[in-house]
Amino acid sequence: MMKHEKLTVVLASRNRGKLAELQRLLGAELGEVIDLRSLDDIGFVGDIEENGATFAENALIKARAIASRGFVALADDSGLCVNALGGAPGVYSARYAGAHGDDAANNALLLQNLANEQDRTAAFVCTFACAFPDGREPIVAEGRVEGEILHAPRGCGGFGYDPLFYYPPFGKTFAELTGEEKNAISHRGAAVRAFAKLFAKADQEN
Ligand code: IMP
Repeated sequence: MMKHEKLTVVLASRNRGKLAELQRLLGAELGEVIDLRSLDDIGFVGDIEENGATFAENALIKARAIASRGFVALADDSGLCVNALGGAPGVYSARYAGAHGDDAANNALLLQNLANEQDRTAAFVCTFACAFPDGREPIVAEGRVEGEILHAPRGCGGFGYDPLFYYPPFGKTFAELTGEEKNAISHRGAAVRAFAKLFAKADQEN
């Protein structure tokens, strides 16, 4: 049980779909204790520059920028880390091939850079950070899932690198999973669950 009534938390996103999905996932873990709002809901204009070297740094940069306006704030950062590429694309996952969010170009570049590689192991990583306006220590939680990069895409679900990311326990790529299947094993699902545990613990202590 949480000690408090519903707490308003601002998510560092303008994406309504992402907000609804996260509200549902957090609700499943914590009960209806968090009322998630978007940047638009609080009239936050402009972009927050994500210039951190790690997923955690980027998530904290975003969460702290919103917390400095007086809100409890939640932010996430995620990406693909390929072992043979020294952890790349990492924090550059969305803009690996240049333009932000060009999934087809990112996937093509990844295949090109792995063309002669035997080691195809990789991990998706997701970090959530929650920052507080009263100077309380932020909560940082990470989730991770290990897989392999295929030589050609498979499946048409998901987004980003999903068609290339093969998950051996299921014998499928992430693009061949339903949303529910992916949430159960994905880096993001794991990060949300880890965050919910830490959040509930911090709530008990404060
Ligand atoms: P963001 O932190 O959610 O903006 O994600 C950064 C980038 O990492 C995305 O644009 C994708 O390229 C990649 N990425 C993160 N999570 C996933 C995933 O679950 N599937 C496929 N690609 C992902």
